Amino acid sequence: MGKIIDLTSEVLRVPTGKHITDSIHSTDIIEFVTCKILTDTGMEGIGFTYTIGNGGYSIKAFIDHYIREALIGDDYGNITEIWNKLWWITQPVGRGGITTHVIAAIDIALWDLKGKEVGKPLQWLLGGSSKPVKLYETNSGWLHYSQDELVESAKNVIKTGFYGFKIKLGKKNPEEDISRIKAVMDVTAGKIALMTDVNQAWSYNYALRMSRIMEKMGVYWIEEPFPADDIVSYKKLSRHSGIPVASGETIFTKYEFQKYLDSGSISISQHDVCRVGGITEWMQISSLCASNNVMVSPHFVMQLHAPLVSSISNGMYVEYIPWMENIFEDQPHVENGLIYPSNKPGIGLRFNEKFLEANRIS
Ligand SMILES: [Mg+2]
Repeated sequence: MGKIIDLTSEVLRVPTGKHITDSIHSTDIIEFVTCKILTDTGMEGIGFTYTIGNGGYSIKAFIDHYIREALIGDDYGNITEIWNKLWWITQPVGRGGITTHVIAAIDIALWDLKGKEVGKPLQWLLGGSSKPVKLYETNSGWLHYSQDELVESAKNVIKTGFYGFKIKLGKKNPEEDISRIKAVMDVTAGKIALMTDVNQAWSYNYALRMSRIMEKMGVYWIEEPFPADDIVSYKKLSRHSGIPVASGETIFTKYEFQKYLDSGSISISQHDVCRVGGITEWMQISSLCASNNVMVSPHFVMQLHAPLVSSISNGMYVEYIPWMENIFEDQPHVENGLIYPSNKPGIGLRFNEKFLEANRIS
């Protein structure tokens, strides 16, 4: 082990490759924030986080102005100690959100260093295996697509070998949502799972009515039906509907997850390593889920979620969204609907420096 001697970060604007819409997002880019930690033993650990559209500058500013100096001289092997230190440094501006994005970028870089130090991949450090994980596809079921386009997408998803397909819901007219589900289900039924995602747009009574129809159609899960703070509605829907309720991408700490778990509000947790404060916190939330018999199918970031899902007992699918593909040179291999955790030391990813250079905005 050794000491941290420097820490740098940058912000990129990364094209998603196609226009994306759901009930709350409409964008063509994500922001990507890098973190590189240099050590007195001559190593570089890389970490990162992202935002869907904005906030990247704030994350970088916090790292540059408040974190960098606080970590120089720390032993990079003391990940838990550093995580706790960061939790308290970030408290004056909140207990989740930008603060946990900041912690994530650092924490991921520290785990990368730990793996590089011993020459082992992340899943090895976490007690996992290098077995491939099943993918479900989310990059071709956007809300602005026509019903015919969704059907075409579903056929392609099956042809490519994915194990599931997710479409966005939240059309103004409920009949339209139902019609779209039915059309896609005609293609997917008996072949792959069909997931649905509301992105927090519904109210309880509306969701209950919709879920009863969707249950009969065989929908695999209903994701984020309500605003993330409306835990009461999540709890009621989980109790009164037969469709598994999934949520977690808009929940930022284990304390918030605890409330969902205590109240039996979700069957599937989708905690996102970049939003909850990195690998350290992601693993803790996964353990909480395991003790509540809740499965884990994380949001986005397949490059890092592949080794993480391989390392827990209650892992399900990883979500296929290829927006980070151009950022990395080394990354997990994807084939026939499976993602293979990298066996390279650390997090198994290497930045494409030319891509960083070309897309940097700060
Ligand atoms: Mg979602």
